[in-house]
Amino acid sequence: MYKNTDNPSSGGDSPFLFMNTLKINDKEFALYLTRHQIEQAVRKVADAITADLDGKDPLFVVVLNGAFMFASDLMKMVNIPSEIAFVRLSSYVGTQSSHVVKEKMSLDKPAGKRPIVIIEDIIDTGITMESYVNRLREAGNTDVRIATLLFKPGAFQKSYPIDYIGLEIPNDFIVGYGLDYDDYGRNLPDIYKIV
Ligand code: 5GP
Ligand code: MG
Repeated sequence: MYKNTDNPSSGGDSPFLFMNTLKINDKEFALYLTRHQIEQAVRKVADAITADLDGKDPLFVVVLNGAFMFASDLMKMVNIPSEIAFVRLSSYVGTQSSHVVKEKMSLDKPAGKRPIVIIEDIIDTGITMESYVNRLREAGNTDVRIATLLFKPGAFQKSYPIDYIGLEIPNDFIVGYGLDYDDYGRNLPDIYKIV
């Protein structure tokens, strides 16, 4: 069990409780975005994608591991015929970006002229997505878009456009809803910020 460091209150029909603060290994985290705020952000992204890509046969590319929960909720709200694939990129060690982007699992076929929408959990420095978008373009994909649940404008070091953003957040390390701290915290239904 995650160590709840306050008095829990009810989390509605979820088996998880809301916690105001919690500890993962050596770090303390405080509740930052509730599942309801997250759901609104996901719906905003889903509505924009549905409006833009209906009838265009998009290929959604989910970036594992962090985006699995966002992708699962998003795909239930994007109400258009589409295909979903999974890739695994890794660029982080602990709470700092290593700036080395490794592709541990790749797409097995190019989408060609079909739109690709990369589904990412969070864009921080922007290095991971820049490198991956370039790789997809070099492989012959002409319409490559990015959908991210979270964006840290204060950490972004690049200038490329991000097509779909759920929420902008300050430059703090967060966990929950797919995002981990040293592999833990991904199954938390709410998002917590380091304190
Ligand atoms: P970037 O290359 O944009 O700096 O980092 C992208 C990746 O770093 C994200 O896909 C995510 O996996 C990880 N990352 C960035 N910020 C955070 C954060 O606040 N918390 C966690 N858990 N991962 C983050
Ligand atoms: Mg990620």
